Amino acid sequence: MRKGRKSKRAKRQEFESMQAPSAGGVRLPRGNGETIKLARGASLTDFADKIGANPASLVQVLFHLGEMVTNTQSVSDEILELLGSEMNYVVQVVSPEEEDRELLDSFSISYGEDAGGEDDLVVRPPVVTVMGHVDHGKTRLLDTIRKENVMGGEAGGITQHIGAYQVVTELEGYERPITFIDTPGHEAFTAMRARGAKSTDIAVIVVAADDGVMPQTVEAINHAQAADVPVVVAVNKIDKEGANPDKIRQQLTEYNLVAEEYGGDTMFVDISAKQGTNIDQLLEAILLTADASLDLRANPNMEAQGVAIEAHLDRGRGPVATVLVQRGTLRVGDSIVAGDASGRVRRMFDEHGEDITEAYPSRPVAVVGFTSVPGAGDTFLVVDEDRVARQIADRRRARERNAELASRRKRVSLEDLDAALKETNQLNLIIKGDNSGTVEALEDALMKIEVGDDVELRVIHRGVGGITEGDINLAIADNVIVLGFNVRAEGKATELANREGVEIRYYSVIYQAIDEIEQALKGMLKPEYEEAVLGHAEVRQVFRSSRFGSIAGCLVMDGIIRRNAKARLLRDSVVVAENLSINSLRRVKDDVVEVREGFECGLTLGNFNDIKDGDMIETYELREKPRA
Ligand code: GDP
Repeated sequence: MRKGRKSKRAKRQEFESMQAPSAGGVRLPRGNGETIKLARGASLTDFADKIGANPASLVQVLFHLGEMVTNTQSVSDEILELLGSEMNYVVQVVSPEEEDRELLDSFSISYGEDAGGEDDLVVRPPVVTVMGHVDHGKTRLLDTIRKENVMGGEAGGITQHIGAYQVVTELEGYERPITFIDTPGHEAFTAMRARGAKSTDIAVIVVAADDGVMPQTVEAINHAQAADVPVVVAVNKIDKEGANPDKIRQQLTEYNLVAEEYGGDTMFVDISAKQGTNIDQLLEAILLTADASLDLRANPNMEAQGVAIEAHLDRGRGPVATVLVQRGTLRVGDSIVAGDASGRVRRMFDEHGEDITEAYPSRPVAVVGFTSVPGAGDTFLVVDEDRVARQIADRRRARERNAELASRRKRVSLEDLDAALKETNQLNLIIKGDNSGTVEALEDALMKIEVGDDVELRVIHRGVGGITEGDINLAIADNVIVLGFNVRAEGKATELANREGVEIRYYSVIYQAIDEIEQALKGMLKPEYEEAVLGHAEVRQVFRSSRFGSIAGCLVMDGIIRRNAKARLLRDSVVVAENLSINSLRRVKDDVVEVREGFECGLTLGNFNDIKDGDMIETYELREKPRA
């Protein structure tokens, strides 16, 4: 071969290496280091679409890199990046928020900023969330605050639950409103935060003075501190015997909440939600904390933006969503989009059930006019035209459908190739509930159930309202359970479910739902076995038989020796042979089923003949292990 010229083969190899990365020799398109943007939770098919490749080849490459995924399955950021670098692309994983910003950009809309400058901003009321341990009095406190204010104010009538309300309190001669989010607990708070919607300015942490700091108290504090939200502590139930408000102050110092009277900067107010004691002081403390640590201002002169707090389907009015205006002014007639729901504001009413035509920053209002039910925690914004609202909603819905599988899917353990392929150990759920807050809280809680890697829980559909035939149709596949939370099946849905064998379960208590689903998941786990030693027999003498091989004459030292039991052979305490079984068992001349401690017996270990005097035979059985 002449020097300077490459052989055909070498050339081909070079060409191939240009074409294809090393991974398993699978031929792939090769990039020039260009950047590919992929949504978080994209699948290999999404990736392949972007670079004009065959999805199957990407599956193969990943397989060779040790990852077993199907082409439609969502994969992690790391895998997308790894795959990208394998093919000489720079993969940029775009978060849902970024993606949404780009979507809004394409309509020349900016979300989240007050238009104009400093001069356009006016003071707005603080928005408060009440959090704390169960039974410490959150609900009672929210009720008391609402009632007291109704008495004092002129509105008079019965208040409705719309998910938030505003009360007015006097501070230093000024009437100051405060907005309370009326869903106690941190589920709503975290659900909103998870979507990047910051709805709360101040957290009131309720601690029962007769109980003290409890796990959910700590969780609530952590959430507030992580979100950088100032805290006011309401020490509740001071009317009760054994109430020890000082102990609460003491305990909370551990969590960086040091009372003002102890030289810290957190306001503590001793209250009784039941008797209405010191409620005014609590409201005052909220305002003082807001004034001291926050600059709460917004521009009311722009198209309204904010967050949906709660939404449900009303029989008469259709979808009703309570939104919290965060900037701008919301007016009847506005074109609005919240998450993937759009519409036009036909009517707005407040917590007294009274119609209002304009809602300013920090005002919660129930909005009638959406064509579908938005999710709790969805951001909303007003746009110029209905058409734009609809387009944004459509695009978000399409994107969500893609991303849905991603976030809702627990990882199938890849070691278990069979399971990954067959996807048998999978429980699919459809969740329907009376409002989006509970549906989300339930879903979040369910996804947190830990039963190990080999069982997967997926929520394939969720929504607000009764269980419809559509839901059942969706459920007509293996392993789909429909959960109805405070809702029932509508129309012919029950009939259809019965006919098709779809299981519907109704709940009104979240914990019960979680318990039962956890049990169901555990039921799907393959049984685990543990070994139980039955007994030991020492070999005293070995007989060689041409017909039976080695027959061991033994003395049962402890327990029992049972015919057909599993056995192992120990010699000087070392296991010489495993996975044996007691093939025949005799006492004197009779075949027996078992022989007890202290008796002699003769036994054979099937084809295993290497038995010596002094060996120990241990027998055991495998018992199914109860799941914890
Ligand atoms: P949540 O789980 O934190 O919402 O707690 P609830 O508001 O449902 O209250 C739990 C229980 O404590 C209820 O029976 C309330 O009536 C009671 N409770 C709440 N606040 C007080 C209080 O200030 N004093 C007394 N004695 N009981 C209270």
